Amino acid sequence: MKQIAIYGKGGIGKSTISANVAAALGERGLNTWYIGCDPKADGSMTLLGGRKIETFLERLRSSTNENCPAYVEGFNGIKCIETGGPIAGVGCAGRGIIVAVQELYKRYFTNDIDVIIYDVPGDVVCGGFAAPLREKFANEVYIVTSGEYLSLYAANNIVRGLENLKVNLGGLICNSREIRNEERIVSEFAKMIGSHMIGFIPRDPIVRECENRGKTVIEGAPQSSQADAYRRLADAILKNNNLGIPKPIDPEEIRVLLRENE
Ligand code: SF4
Repeated sequence: MKQIAIYGKGGIGKSTISANVAAALGERGLNTWYIGCDPKADGSMTLLGGRKIETFLERLRSSTNENCPAYVEGFNGIKCIETGGPIAGVGCAGRGIIVAVQELYKRYFTNDIDVIIYDVPGDVVCGGFAAPLREKFANEVYIVTSGEYLSLYAANNIVRGLENLKVNLGGLICNSREIRNEERIVSEFAKMIGSHMIGFIPRDPIVRECENRGKTVIEGAPQSSQADAYRRLADAILKNNNLGIPKPIDPEEIRVLLRENE
């Protein structure tokens, strides 16, 4: 079983990538779980036809039936969970996801799971950042970034966290903002932190159009080149053996890199 966590600065498109990768893995017939930990609990909506689900902790609290499933099955059979904190949006230092995943291990996780994707807050707002790593739920991390300074700066901070926790980085995913030399910038930055760029996702209005219909691109526009970009990324993650503990760089080096590629 592969257990991965996807991080990135808020607004970088982390949940869109997580949901599309999950959908692409489901399309291959893999038993895939999506576990979101976000104050808005809305990362799984595109796997669920635009529906927002009760969080795991709400379900546990409100359910009187022991057998009531903890997850909601979405597109391609993806099992979707939003963990939820004790008080929505207030922050729980990661307790929400810890309690939820411990419970999932005890009662719901089976040996036939192929991939679990944790879509977790990247900017430490609510303390969920380190929970899946510290508790060793996830052992392989991917960081979503673009070629913009603030995204790379945030990625570098996440790298610092991974180095402290001694967790393997599987690579950077470039979610394009269509800036000049973006692919080269992100590849170079990846090398500087001791990693590699595992996927490049072009910017395409089809993503928003599908989201407006409550769908991933894999579901809403399966023939599109954008859907193929997500499929390629999912395949690369599945096969990836190029893992290592990354090393952050001095933020000034990011500025130099950007200036050199203007
Ligand atoms: S860390 Fe806690 S409050 Fe924050 S999103 Fe995760 S479960 Fe919710």
